[in-house]
Amino acid sequence: MKSGRCVKCGETPILIIKSVTDLDDGFGQPMVVHRVQHFFSTDEYGQLQLYVCQACEYAEWYAAGAQEIPVAKMDNVELLWADDAPEKEAFEALGRIRKKTD
Ligand SMILES: [Zn+2]
Repeated sequence: MKSGRCVKCGETPILIIKSVTDLDDGFGQPMVVHRVQHFFSTDEYGQLQLYVCQACEYAEWYAAGAQEIPVAKMDNVELLWADDAPEKEAFEALGRIRKKTD
């Protein structure tokens, strides 16, 4: 999708929605992967962006700045490593490896 061509139907162009609004709180905030609320400020990580094919309506999500997401501080994250990744063993010891199912 980031090539500008749809991965499902091959059509172009692709719409890039750079910020998708979450209206659950009634005020509307950009959807992010992780949000840390401080007394006077908020840290936001992984703002979600949506790539949409207008031809077939297929959509993909991307998390902008994914490398900055504080994975070690989050309880709802598992890491899915490729079988041949050298970093895999270090994270197995932490019990944060999800077994690949395919
Ligand atoms: Zn398409």
